Amino acid sequence: MLVSPRRLLLVQLAVTRRCNLACGYCCESDDHSSPVAAEILERRIDHAASLGTLILTLTGGKPLLHPRLEALVARMASRGMVTTLIANGWARCAIGCARRASAFDEWRSQPGV
Ligand code: SF4
Repeated sequence: MLVSPRRLLLVQLAVTRRCNLACGYCCESDDHSSPVAAEILERRIDHAASLGTLILTLTGGKPLLHPRLEALVARMASRGMVTTLIANGWARCAIGCARRASAFDEWRSQPGV
């Protein structure tokens, strides 16, 4: 059963506070923070999976700036969770982010929008 009152539907995991934008209303980001350590995120991913989480969403800051993003997404997918990502889509990092976004689509076996 996909939906159950005993199963988490959605967990959001902030992987970095760092962002390439500085929106005036935002209190979730900066331009200098180190990414959350991959080992900590791996434990949180595993914990979310152990709770039966259906959807795990990476957010930030800008999650595409995390240096271990590919490995984290692979871990999420291997734990059977639907993996999603929230990013601002800003073109300043178009090359790197496009590469990462296409890798994300590949892991999901589904193109993003
Ligand atoms: S793009 Fe998002 S995370 Fe980045 S500064 Fe704007 S609101 Fe904050």
